[in-house]
Amino acid sequence: MASYDFDLLTIGAGSGGVAGSRRAASYGARVGIIESARVGGTCVLRGCVPKKLLIYGVHLHDELEDAAGYGWSIGENTLDWAKLIEAKDRELDRLNGIYLGMLERAGVKVIEGRGRLIDAHTVAVGEQTYTSERIMIATGGWPVVPKIPGAEHAITSNEALDLKTLPHRIVIWGGGYIAVEFAGIFRAAGCDVHLVVRADRVLRGFDGEVRDHLTEAMKARGITIHAESTVARIEKTQGGLVAHLDSGIMIDCDQVMAATGRAPNTTGLGLAELGIETDAYGAIVVDEWSATTLPNIYAVGDVTNHLNLTPVAIGEARGLAETLYNNNPVHLDHATVPSAVFSQPPVATV
Ligand code: NDP
Repeated sequence: MASYDFDLLTIGAGSGGVAGSRRAASYGARVGIIESARVGGTCVLRGCVPKKLLIYGVHLHDELEDAAGYGWSIGENTLDWAKLIEAKDRELDRLNGIYLGMLERAGVKVIEGRGRLIDAHTVAVGEQTYTSERIMIATGGWPVVPKIPGAEHAITSNEALDLKTLPHRIVIWGGGYIAVEFAGIFRAAGCDVHLVVRADRVLRGFDGEVRDHLTEAMKARGITIHAESTVARIEKTQGGLVAHLDSGIMIDCDQVMAATGRAPNTTGLGLAELGIETDAYGAIVVDEWSATTLPNIYAVGDVTNHLNLTPVAIGEARGLAETLYNNNPVHLDHATVPSAVFSQPPVATV
C-alpha cells in the first residue's frame, strides 16, 4: 500500500474545509489543510460574521429611536463608522485565533499557501509538494463583477466590509442576498442608498409576497430602488463616481458596489489537467457523496455552486468525513434547506 503524507488533505480553510478536516481528524485521520489567506474563509472573514456585526451595529439606531418613545432620555447619537469597522476587525482577529486553535487542538496541520493539484494524490504549495490518500477541495467562491466599462471602479462585498469612511451616497448593483443586506446596512448607517435591480423587485426566486413586502419596506426606509435597470457604465470623475444606468439615469456617488453574484474559486487548481469535471460556471461537478469525477478527490461548499450557504458547506464536509472515516455513510439532503436574509425586516425561505 502506498504511503502518503496525509490521509486527507484539504484545500481551503473556510467553514466547510475546517469542519470536515476537524471531523476527519477526530476519527484518527492524519489531516492537513492548505490556506492561502487567513483561516476562516468567506463566512468568518468576508461574509456572514462581519456582515452581521455591521448589521447589529447599525441596527442600534432604530433601538435608540424606539427607546425615546418608551420614555428613555436619549441624547444626540451619532455613529462613528471607523470605530465600528475597527471593532469588527478586532472580533475577526479573535475568531481567526479561535479557528487556528481548533485546528491545532484537533491535530490538523495548517499549511500556508495556495494548493495546486499535481496528480490524484499530490498537491503542490509553492515549491513544496504533499501527498495524500484523499483530497477535499473546499476553495469557496469569489464575487463576480460583470464586464462593463468602468467595472474596475466598483467595489464588492469584500471591500464594502472594510470601508474606512462611510460613503455619502452608494449605488448597490444587484437585488440578491448581498445587495439587500448591504443596502440595509448602509441605509441604517445614514447613507443615501440607490439599489439597481434588473428584475421588477428584489430577491428573485423568493416568494412573491415576501419580495413585494421587502421591496416596499426598503423604500419606506428611504432606499431608492431602480427596478428593471442595470448599471451600464461607471465613470470616474474628480469628485467621485457616476453610475450610468441603462435607463439613462445618472447617479453621482462615492461608491458603486457590485453584488451581482459569486463564482466558484477553481482557477489555478489544476482541475482540467487531471480531468476533474467542472460545469459552465467553473463549479466542480460532484455526486451526492461530494465525489468528483476522480475517485479519491472530493469537493464541498461554494466551489460546487450547489447552494452557497455556510451550513450547507459544513453539512457536506462533515458528511464526507463521517462516510470516509467513521463508517457512517451520510450525506446532506439538498431538497429543503432553509436560509435567512438579514435585510430589514429579515426574511427567510426554505
Ligand atoms: P445572488 O445570486 O443572490 O444575487 C445576484 C444578484 O445580481 C441578482 O439580483 C441578479 O439578478 C443580479 N445580477 C447578476 N448578474 C447581473 C448582471 N450581469 N447585471 C445585472 N444584475 C445582475 O448573489 P449574491 O452575490 O447576492 O450572493 C451570492 C450567494 O451568497 C447567494 O446566492 C447566497 O447563496 C449567498 N449568501 C447568503 C447569505 C445569507 O445566507 N444570508 C448572505 C449573502 C450571500 P437576477 O435575479 O435578475 O439574476
